[in-house]
Amino acid sequence: MRAKIIAGNWKMNKDLGESIQLVTELKEALGTKNPSVEVVVCPPFTSLALVANVIKGSRIKLGAQNMSEHNDGALTGEVSWRMLKSVGCTHVILGHSERRQFFRESNELINLKAKKALANELRPIVCVGETLEEREKGVTNDIITHQVRGVLEGISSADMARVVIAYEPVWAIGTGKNATPLQAQEVHQLIRKTMGQMFGWSIAESIPIQYGGSVKPDNAADILAQSDIDGALVGGASLTKDAFIPIINAVRV
Ligand code: PEP
Repeated sequence: MRAKIIAGNWKMNKDLGESIQLVTELKEALGTKNPSVEVVVCPPFTSLALVANVIKGSRIKLGAQNMSEHNDGALTGEVSWRMLKSVGCTHVILGHSERRQFFRESNELINLKAKKALANELRPIVCVGETLEEREKGVTNDIITHQVRGVLEGISSADMARVVIAYEPVWAIGTGKNATPLQAQEVHQLIRKTMGQMFGWSIAESIPIQYGGSVKPDNAADILAQSDIDGALVGGASLTKDAFIPIINAVRV
């Protein structure tokens, strides 16, 4: 059975005090239900080190929201894999649509970042997703296939075992509109088929594919019940314990 992963992307929210408060609440509220579900929080860079302290000894894992494709050097404002590892990160979100849209990140760049993360034992959560315009033009499948091929190009089969994919239709992120469970399942199947063509079926079958886009406590169970949906990447609803915990508990294991 594939791993189930629920990750919270806090984006540019929560200062240090607020981050500690939220993760402390999550740690206390995370009961014994669904112990096999992997839970990851991705606070802003400024909170990573102290959030790492709070989650020590719990089942919550730490992820960053971005990472440089370089090791170190004169790159003002960038953060390297080594810095992330030194504060306790095990995961990193790469190629989020906001990075693609506002910071012009390409499939090629995301591919370099994914390879850098994998080479240094960070688990990349690699995002793909079509825009509303692309969906309305009927080119969703072409876009998704192109993105999956681009971001995973040249990754070895052994490294693929540590990749997580997040399918996030751009039109559903932060908009309150979510893909129907069936719409999401169709794209997840396409992503798995594409990975099968690239790496073989047994690898494709083992890779968790999260759905992201306005996942909330009231729609999580229906989305997570789909056979190719292995968890969720959650934005807005990861910012409070009362919304995030029910999503973790909605996973069927
Ligand atoms: C996200 O940021 O990855 C996301 C899916 O956001 P939201 O849940 O708010 O749509």
